[in-house]
Order: sequence, then structure tokens, then C-alpha cells
Amino acid sequence: MKEQTVLICGGGIGGLAAALVLARQGYRVEVFEQSDAFREIGAGIQIGPNAFRMFEHLGLTRAIDHVAYYPGNLCMRDVRTGEVVTRVPVSATAQGTYGYPYGVIYRVDLHSVLLEACAAQPSVGLYTHAKLERFAQDGDGVTVTLADGRKFQGAALIGADGLWSAVRQEIVADGAPRVSGHVAYRAVLPASEVPKHLFSPDVVLWGGEKTHLVHYPLRRGELFNLVAVFHSSLYEEGWNVFGDPHELHERFADAVGPVRELLGKIETWKMWVLCDREPVKNWSQGRVTLLGDAAHPMLQYLAQGACMAIEDAVVLGAALERAHGDFAGAFLEYQRVRCLRTARVQLTSRFYGDIYHASGVTRELRNQLFQSGTESAGFAGLKWLYEGVDPNSVFA
Ligand SMILES: Cc1cc2nc3c(=O)[nH]c(=O)nc-3n(C[C@H](O)[C@H](O)[C@H](O)COP(=O)(O)OP(=O)(O)OC[C@H]3O[C@@H](n4cnc5c(N)ncnc54)[C@H](O)[C@@H]3O)c2cc1C
Repeated sequence: MKEQTVLICGGGIGGLAAALVLARQGYRVEVFEQSDAFREIGAGIQIGPNAFRMFEHLGLTRAIDHVAYYPGNLCMRDVRTGEVVTRVPVSATAQGTYGYPYGVIYRVDLHSVLLEACAAQPSVGLYTHAKLERFAQDGDGVTVTLADGRKFQGAALIGADGLWSAVRQEIVADGAPRVSGHVAYRAVLPASEVPKHLFSPDVVLWGGEKTHLVHYPLRRGELFNLVAVFHSSLYEEGWNVFGDPHELHERFADAVGPVRELLGKIETWKMWVLCDREPVKNWSQGRVTLLGDAAHPMLQYLAQGACMAIEDAVVLGAALERAHGDFAGAFLEYQRVRCLRTARVQLTSRFYGDIYHASGVTRELRNQLFQSGTESAGFAGLKWLYEGVDPNSVFA
């Protein structure tokens, strides 16, 4: 049974995590990546305790620990006054409450850890310049056709091809993603280039009207990650286009001095147009299923898209382990146990965006509620998220 081949479209964090899980279960896995290399963009990513739980399951704890950075606090400040709205002692709280840390990691490093683990598995085939154009399935398997005409056959196909997933369009057929009207400008600096008075060892979020800035150290503190988010009517599809610094500075014109100074340190910003989709629960069809952003793309306000993709991979593996070769049945079970959890993260992420970008009375109320609560109250409200999933009992 296990000598069967599973085809995976997309070599991002989700696709590689799935490849690793399935190869370790004894499947032959072929991963198709449309780009000329398996790589991630240079930016930071926050990793909740729920994903660290998955790293343990994948045997990657040490490799991740080697490149992660563990902030002491998650701190929210008001961008116009500089006042501290809330400070969560995340280092102690995450480990103490959930048994796993809260970390930040350079996306390149996370992707490399997964890629190296996959490359160490003789049963994983990694193909670049391999853009899936279409697929067809019947009762016996799936045939994938790449843009250059090559064809591959397997017992099943996993679409881990991200926000603009081609596989999703065959299954869910819900067209283009929802453009949120928010854009993110990102940049990474050597930590040594950040003046001492602007450096913070914490994850700091400066919330303002329709804007926020997040910064934190990366790679054991060698790098400094900045992401500025604001509402904009600009739209360009893709994850790697240049932003307009004039628009950025205009949006942060009323920010306190240190924020403006920090933004001024960066000459070139890369831009993301932020999109998501409405939650659905029909992302599996026969021997084909979706995973990660292809299944449930979300805004970044809860910092969980990649964490959910990694959880998906582990749960999908557990579903296949139980199904004894019944791919269609396993994919329906996987979808059943994942769809409400991921939908909750998609919808809560939108809500958190509203909180971060609040103005007027809403902003005052936010500040008052956060400031009157205990330090870890906000974090405790996310117990459902951070305690994560147990792949051994999730189907019980
Ligand atoms: C500003 C911002 C900040 C974020 N911060 C966080 C955070 O702090 N924490 C967190 O957990 N998440 C965060 N996320 C979300 C996270 O980046 C995504 O959820 C995650 O990258 C999804 O991984 P994926 O593998 O599903 O998709 P992707 O990373 O999009 O990978 C898809 C891969 O498929 C390939 N592909 C696409 N189409 C084809 C095709 N037809 N054939 C072959 N290959 C194809 C692509 O080239 C790509 O390599 C953030 C996102 C943004 C925009």
C-alpha cells in the first residue's frame, strides 16, 4: 500500500511539511514547484505554540530551535501617543500554559529546515520549473500535467499551491481571492543597523488608525524584521513587488517620532497585497485535497497562516494513517476535522485587524480594556488556538 505515490503541487511551507509527513509514512512523494528554486521570501514569521507542538511531532524541534528567536513579550503600543496598550509576557506564558514556546523565525530558515528534512528522505522527488497546469482523476489515481507538457501519475494529489491555487479552482471554483484593501510593506535589516534607541527585543505592534507597524528581531537577534500595514486601494497580484515609500510615510505621518524614524531607515520596501477568502468546507474531492493557503487563506493579523499549514500537514498524515489506502475517505476526514478550526482562524484574523486599526471611540475602548486587564488576559482568550491539535486524538 505505502509504495503508492502522492503528488504535491507547491513547495512552500505547507507543501514541504506535507511531503515530509507522507515520506516518513512510507509514501513516494513528488513535489512540483513552479519557481526556478525551492525558496521563501526574506521576511519574518511568528510561530505560535500550536506550531511548535507540530515541530515536535515532526522531529524538527532542535533544527527550528537553532534558527528561531524567542521574544520575551508581545507588546502593543498606540502609534499616535506611544503609550503601552498591553504587554504579554509571552515567553513565560506560552511555555507555562501550553508547554511550547512562542517564537519568531526568518521564513527562509523555516523553509530551509523543511527542505533539508525532505531532501534527506530518498522517497521525496523535488521538481523546480514544474508548474501544474491541470489534473485529471479517476477511480485509480490522479494524472498531473505540467505547463511544459510533462505528465506524472499518482494515487492522490495535494494542492498546496497557495492563495492563487490552480488546484482549488478545479475543486472549489470560487474565483479570485478577496482583496482586503490592506497592504503590507516589509523589510529586514541587520540588527546592527538599528539605532539602540529604536531597537526592542520584543515583538512590538504599533496600532494606529487603519495602520500598524510590527517589528521584532530574527535569527537569534542578528536581523530586525519590520512589517508596516495600512489600508490602500493599490492592488498588484503577487508577493514580491516593490512598495511606494511615499505612500507609506504619508500613512504614518501622525506616528510618534521613533516609528517615523524607524520607517525612515528603510529605502526599499517589498509589498504584499493582503487577501483572504470566505471559509469553505468542500476542499476535498475524491483523490484530491487542498492544504494551507490553498484551502483557507487568511489575513495575517493572528500570525497563523503558516502555522495552520503545518497543522494541516500533520493532521492529513494522521488521516491517511487511519485510512489504509482510502485516499478519498481520508481527505474527507481531514477536511472535516480541519475546516471549522481554520475557519475560526480566518474570521478571527479579520476581527484582530479591526482591533489593531481602530480609531475614535473604538480605539479608546480598546486601549482601556487592554490596559485594565491582566497582562496575559488577551493571550488567554486565544487558548483554543494556541493549545493546538493532538494528531493522535483529533479523530476521536
Ligand atoms: C504580511 C504577512 C505576514 C504573515 N505573517 C505570518 C506569521 O507571522 N505567522 C504565520 O504562521 N503566517 C503568516 N503569514 C501567512 C503565511 O505566509 C502563509 O499562510 C503561508 O506562507 C502559506 O504557506 P503555503 O505553503 O500554504 O502557501 P505558499 O507559501 O503560498 O506556497 C505555495 C507554493 O506553491 C507554488 N505554486 C503556486 N502555484 C503553483 C502551480 N500551479 N504549480 C506549481 N507550484 C505552484 C508557489 O510558487 C509557492 O512556492 C503571513 C502572511 C503575510 C502576507
